[in-house]
Amino acid sequence: MSVSKTDDLGSNPSAPAMAVFKFSKNDSFGRFQHLVGVVYSLPDDQLYSIYDLLAHQQRFAMRALKGIRKGDHEKLKINLLIAFSWLMAIANRFHIDVDDAVWQRFPMLCSYCSKKPCACKKVKPTSRRKLVIIKNARPPTLAGFQEMFVAIYPPGRRTLSDAGIHLAEEMGEVSEAVHNFLGQHRSGQLQSIKQEIADFVSCVFGIANSARINIAAELAKMFSHNCHVCHKAPCVCSFSKVARLRT
Ligand SMILES: [Zn+2]
Ligand SMILES: [Zn+2]
Repeated sequence: MSVSKTDDLGSNPSAPAMAVFKFSKNDSFGRFQHLVGVVYSLPDDQLYSIYDLLAHQQRFAMRALKGIRKGDHEKLKINLLIAFSWLMAIANRFHIDVDDAVWQRFPMLCSYCSKKPCACKKVKPTSRRKLVIIKNARPPTLAGFQEMFVAIYPPGRRTLSDAGIHLAEEMGEVSEAVHNFLGQHRSGQLQSIKQEIADFVSCVFGIANSARINIAAELAKMFSHNCHVCHKAPCVCSFSKVARLRT
C-alpha cells in the first residue's frame, strides 16, 4: 500500500484527512487488511455493531451469488470484492490477522486431506489431517494467495455455481462462529472465528479462480484513493448511504 503524509492515522491526528491510502496489485494480504482498518475502522467502530458488519458482509456476498445466477460477471465481481472488504472489517473488530489465519488453515495444502491438489474426493477424510507448515512457502502477496488456491483447488474441477454454494455455506459458518463466541466468550470460539474467516477467504478465491477475477488487481482499481465510494480516509459514507448501496 502506498501512503502519503502518514502511514498511521493515529500518529498525526491533525492531518488525517490529508492521507491517501491505496492498494497495489503486488501488495500483501496484510496490507489490504491494514488499508480497510485505516479507511474504515473509525466509522465501523462508531456506527456498526458486529451484527451490522456481518449483515453487510452477507448482503454483498448474496449479491455476488445473484451475479452468478444471472450470469452477470460485473455484478459478481464488485459484490465479491465488497463482501471481502467487509470480512476484513469483521476480522479487524476481533483483531484477527487474516493473512496468518489463511496460512495456518491452508499452508499450500488442502486443510482437510493435507494434499495439493486437494484429493478429498479420493481420500474422503473423515477428520482434518495434521498440516505440516512449510515456512518459506507462504505467499508474500495477496495475488500469491490467489495462485496458491489455484494449486490447491484447481478451478476446472467444479462449476462456478458450486463454488458459490460453498461460499454461502462458509458465510453461515462465520456467522455461527461469531454468535457462539459472543454468547460464551470462550477462547476456542475465537479460534473458530479465525478458522471460519479463513474458510470464507478460500471460497472468495475459489469463486474468483472459477470466474477469472484477479482479486488483487481489481482491489487495486477499486481502492486507488481511500474509500472506494467517498474517496476519503477515514470514510465519511453515512450509515444510511451504506445501507442503500446497490452494486
Ligand atoms: Zn482436500
Ligand atoms: Zn466512504
